[in-house]
Amino acid sequence: MFEFSDELGPFKIIHVYEPSVGLKGVLVVDNVARGPSVGGVRMAPDVSTRECFRLARAMTLKNAAADLAHGGGKSVLYGDPKMPLVEKERLIRAFACSLREVEQYVFAPDMGTDEQCMAWIKDEVDRVVGLPRELGGIPLDEIGATGWGLRQATEVAMHHLDRDIHGSRIVVQGFGAVGQHAARFLSDLGAIMVGVADSRGALHDSQGIDIDELIKLKRAGKSVVDFPHGERLSRDAVLDIECDIWIPAARPDVVNENNVARLNTRLVVEGANIPITPKAEKMLHDKGTLCIPDFVANAGGVICAAMEFRGASEAAVFEIIEDKIRRNTEQILETIRTSKLTPREAATKLALTRVKKAMGWRRWSVFNNA
Ligand code: NAD
Repeated sequence: MFEFSDELGPFKIIHVYEPSVGLKGVLVVDNVARGPSVGGVRMAPDVSTRECFRLARAMTLKNAAADLAHGGGKSVLYGDPKMPLVEKERLIRAFACSLREVEQYVFAPDMGTDEQCMAWIKDEVDRVVGLPRELGGIPLDEIGATGWGLRQATEVAMHHLDRDIHGSRIVVQGFGAVGQHAARFLSDLGAIMVGVADSRGALHDSQGIDIDELIKLKRAGKSVVDFPHGERLSRDAVLDIECDIWIPAARPDVVNENNVARLNTRLVVEGANIPITPKAEKMLHDKGTLCIPDFVANAGGVICAAMEFRGASEAAVFEIIEDKIRRNTEQILETIRTSKLTPREAATKLALTRVKKAMGWRRWSVFNNA
């Protein structure tokens, strides 16, 4: 028995090894009660079965919390993603072929793989999302699927706090695909970005930063600290900027027990995955800062991928993301209003309830309960 197995899974673990092409990989299909598992292909030299399982479990919960008809899975491929392209193509194609028969897994991009890799997979196996537009894909970073979802979660949370978005001050840590679109969509509602950071530094302007101009500058390959207006600060000073809404959209664990007290905000909406350590998140909760957890707030990307799998149009994707993220955020906020749970606990409970309910409808549960 796999050392991590529990009441949810994992359903299948497949190790793939083909020395003639240097192929070594693992697929974990964690739970498929809600439908075929969707999860990225991560390529890195130091991946492991344990990491693959943890990521697959996170996808089970994320897909259920997003209310998608998909279970959770993940695959890892040992190798340097920056290897020569011909070698990478050979490996990715070999990996796809070796998993051709596993109908419960839909491939998606993750760290070390991109839409070109998904196009190679599509050529071998039909079950893949995150494709180039030419193959029916929806470029989620280009259209801002995750940023659009963050706006929905923020609107619902601000309503819960009885606050107006119009005129509220936002700070964004990480100004890439997620941060830029979140800032843009929130400014459409009248929010003012007073602080922003990227890996090179931070920028502060209490009068508001021109988001469109800053996006143009970033797309020209520059940093937020190259912006001609506002006060330039060190990268982590973005934690100290007073605001109403703080959006982490950079890296995991950037907020931890040692720096969480520096945050001066009423609301945190998590754009990045696990940007705040569990202890720091609990400290924020105890202080009265509302924190919408990553797998609820940043699910726009995975919802977009699930819609792509069903052949939906780009326009339909925005509507579905809006509907799902608003409903899920409302449900979680209703739970915390009437219980002592933190938002993360409430979201996990919601996801687990959905997965277990779906498991109850599977054929095997009938035999169990007989
Ligand atoms: P990206 O690479 O486009 O942008 C990341 C940004 O963060 C860059 O501006 C970078 O300079 C900045 N950055 C890196 N380290 C930083 C630090 N310590 N302090 C401040 N800024 C820092 O990435 P992205 O696609 O925008 O994703 C951001 C995060 O959101 C990642 O954790 C990713 O896993 C997560 N996420 C992304 C999506 C998506 O749709 N792209 C969906 C869900 C979750």
